[in-house]
Amino acid sequence: IIEIEHLKKSFGDNLVLKDINMNVNKGEVVTIIGASGSGKSTFLRCINLLETPTDGKIMYQGENVLAPGYNLPKYRTHLGMVFQSFNLFNNMNVLQNCMSGQITVLGRKEAEARKIAIENLEKVGMARFIDAKPAQLSGGQKQRVAIARALSMDPEVMLFDEPTSALDPEMVGDVLQIMKKLAESGLTMVVVTHEMAFAKEVSDRVIFMDKGLIAEEGTPEDIFVHPKEERTKEFLHRVL
Ligand code: ATP
Ligand code: MG
Repeated sequence: IIEIEHLKKSFGDNLVLKDINMNVNKGEVVTIIGASGSGKSTFLRCINLLETPTDGKIMYQGENVLAPGYNLPKYRTHLGMVFQSFNLFNNMNVLQNCMSGQITVLGRKEAEARKIAIENLEKVGMARFIDAKPAQLSGGQKQRVAIARALSMDPEVMLFDEPTSALDPEMVGDVLQIMKKLAESGLTMVVVTHEMAFAKEVSDRVIFMDKGLIAEEGTPEDIFVHPKEERTKEFLHRVL
């Protein structure tokens, strides 16, 4: 669905992404692993254009989204994003969080938006909490609502940036379980994670990023059992 060609991103004279080439295929789960500062978040943020790439192409359904005149707001609606820090609207309750984008961005009628929101809240086990405000929820519950909110926009691709790293350990399993279910349902997902067990078990493809480059990519077996690159081996030694 997405083809990324020679993507580069710098902040001032700090070249953070050096030359990234990657495809995301329909129905695929791609996980991105790598040391802190290697550019994983910047890469995800470039994919959905929360950051503007310095150079390169991002092709969506065969069209370069960075070309002048391309309909970026439309493109963004095809991508759902889940952040480490939830980013819920704190002044809205759970149901409103899951409805507002559907109404304001997709132009859905209130009744339809409500129905879709509730379906997705059921998927993540949060339908009982529709009246709660984010402040009344645990981290794991907030993250489940954030996932339901993103799903309610019917994205083609879901991007997750370390969705469990801000959670208390006992909440991590629930969120990973939900993500696993979504993966099995055929959703296309790109997941930046420190959860190596999840990457091993759920990914179709694992990408190891090092210093702004894709140092190695392959199946979970390629990366975790038979890594070729010295850098990959060192990283895995440190984290496993
Ligand atoms: P982590 O695992 O800690 O989340 P990461 O792989 O996601 O790390 P990034 O957050 O993408 O790494 O950061 C890569 C580099 O880009 C870092 O050196 C960081 O300081 C720099 N960087 C990221 N965002 C900005 C920004 N908005 N302005 C300036 N520099 C930035
Ligand atoms: Mg990051």
